[in-house]
Amino acid sequence: MMAVYTNPICPKCGKSHFGIREIDVQDANFRHFAIICTSCGCIVSTETMQDDDRQAKLESALNNISNQLKGIVSALQRHGIY
Ligand SMILES: [Zn+2]
Repeated sequence: MMAVYTNPICPKCGKSHFGIREIDVQDANFRHFAIICTSCGCIVSTETMQDDDRQAKLESALNNISNQLKGIVSALQRHGIY
């Protein structure tokens, strides 16, 4: 027997129209979205998505720190300390 695909229904009101809304989560590494019922506003599911902007900023910050450390190490080596 073949499974029949039906659009999911809202557990609260039984309607099957949904929308997506971003949830602002403080200090989150990922962006969070809620799938909400457009009839009653009930949250039926949540999704996370990678925040590419934040990821890029973190990578560039890490690169800066890494470059500064290399500079410090080579300065120490020049002075025979490291
Ligand atoms: Zn609903």
